[in-house]
Amino acid sequence: MRAQPPASHFIDGAYVEDASGEAFACLYPATGEVIAQLHAATPGLIERAVASAARAQQEWAALAPVERGRVLRRAARLMRLRNRALSELETLDTGKPLQETLVADAASGADALEFFGGIAPTINGEAIPLGRDFAYTRRVPLGVCAGIGAWNYPTQIACWKAAPALACGNAMVFKPSENTPLGALKLAEILIEAGAPAGLFNVVQGMGAVGAALAGHERVAKVSLTGSVPTGRKVYAAAAEGMRHVTMELGGKSPLIVFEDADLEDAIGGAMLGNFYSTGQVCSNGTRVFVQRAVRDAFLERLVARTEAIRIGDPMDENVQMGPLISAQQRRKVLEYVKHGKAEGARCLTGGGVPKVQGFEGGFWVEPTVFAGVRDEMTIARDEIFGPVMAVLDFDDEDEVIARANGSEFGLAGGVFTRDLARAHRVADRLRAGIVWINGYNLTPVEIPFGGTKMSGVGRENSRAAIEHYTEVKTVHVGLGPVESPY
Ligand code: NDP
Repeated sequence: MRAQPPASHFIDGAYVEDASGEAFACLYPATGEVIAQLHAATPGLIERAVASAARAQQEWAALAPVERGRVLRRAARLMRLRNRALSELETLDTGKPLQETLVADAASGADALEFFGGIAPTINGEAIPLGRDFAYTRRVPLGVCAGIGAWNYPTQIACWKAAPALACGNAMVFKPSENTPLGALKLAEILIEAGAPAGLFNVVQGMGAVGAALAGHERVAKVSLTGSVPTGRKVYAAAAEGMRHVTMELGGKSPLIVFEDADLEDAIGGAMLGNFYSTGQVCSNGTRVFVQRAVRDAFLERLVARTEAIRIGDPMDENVQMGPLISAQQRRKVLEYVKHGKAEGARCLTGGGVPKVQGFEGGFWVEPTVFAGVRDEMTIARDEIFGPVMAVLDFDDEDEVIARANGSEFGLAGGVFTRDLARAHRVADRLRAGIVWINGYNLTPVEIPFGGTKMSGVGRENSRAAIEHYTEVKTVHVGLGPVESPY
């Protein structure tokens, strides 16, 4: 088996197997071949993982922050040194082309470890003068955090959650998506090698039930989920039972607005990045592309030409630009949406089918697809598809497009292409979204906050903002004089 790990789980500093857990296979999405056989964590293993995390957390939180930071920065260096091997594994795990994984997965994870390792010693409270008395605050860790990941960026998601959690003095038990169990195990190995105490970052595999066990576990203080809105609802509710903190990074149906004065080649490039990268399996994708009517035809003509030039094929070939979807089930779902689009009257300008990829006949391929003439009420303009299906809609003026762009239950991201500086900022201000890109799309460097509003989630990942979601404030009031008691 091409990517069989030594065992399914990583608990208390070592690989652990318990074959009594439900068996599941990890497939290479480009061929459909089984590349690893794993077992879901049993309740006993989940207990072991949480208990070892609780132990490690005490030891870890007692370290000087600069020492914690050093471990994270060492882990970042190891990830960078092994970028190629980690990227190849990520490609096997997800089917994403090496061209992407070499720059966007372990590399982004390393950035998070480096960034949060760097700021660990700066996580301070404040001193508050009160006249004679004073108070001070500290940012204290929450304890054991549970991380639950989606399948589109398995390594990145594990790092985006672990890095701030650990920097703040927490421990983490992480459950990857059952589709992509491999990347997080490598992070667990690397953290141990970098000097983290055994148990600080544990990985337990399994389906939704394992995630649910963590989200409702009495010793878990915080749950951070990257996933869909329906799962988010369940996890948020389970966490609420125990008054646990949450970060919810959920889905989207984000608008990308192209005004007639935009640089059209840039706008087309942004729209393609925001719909086709990772075969469209990106939560912040700009899947409703609003194009001002005067430039619509020119936009569509070049968009179709550039889309038809996308190189689909062997994900391990660095010249290949698009891989398959994650699973047969996801492909069925995406093709179903294509059918809806056609049936509801949108015009499919290119794609919509399953490409023949020689030597990779068992893979979960789908063509990059562009629909024009899409109207707001169509299914493909409302639902998150999570595949390479772009919906292009026409608009006439700014007020109209803002109202339509905001007319979604989601609010993760948005984009605007224009050369008019004032309009760019005005639109950015009026879009109800956690992040807006002006003349660009889907850039998520670790220095900037990332997360959604409305049904797209709560909390922010990356940047200093993440610190607030992995700590709580403790206040100490210091009395310096006699106690003034009326009794
Ligand atoms: P799911 O919501 O299906 O699953 C997310 C994770 O939650 C998986 O590990 C899953 O396990 C687990 N899970 C499922 N049910 C439960 C439960 N009841 N309690 C606890 N955990 C549970 O999402 P997908 O994996 O299908 O990922 C795609 C979705 O993720 C899209 O909607 C996308 O928009 C969103 N996403 C959001 C991002 C963001 O940052 N906002 C980034 C990336 C994706 P398993 O699948 O193994 O059964």
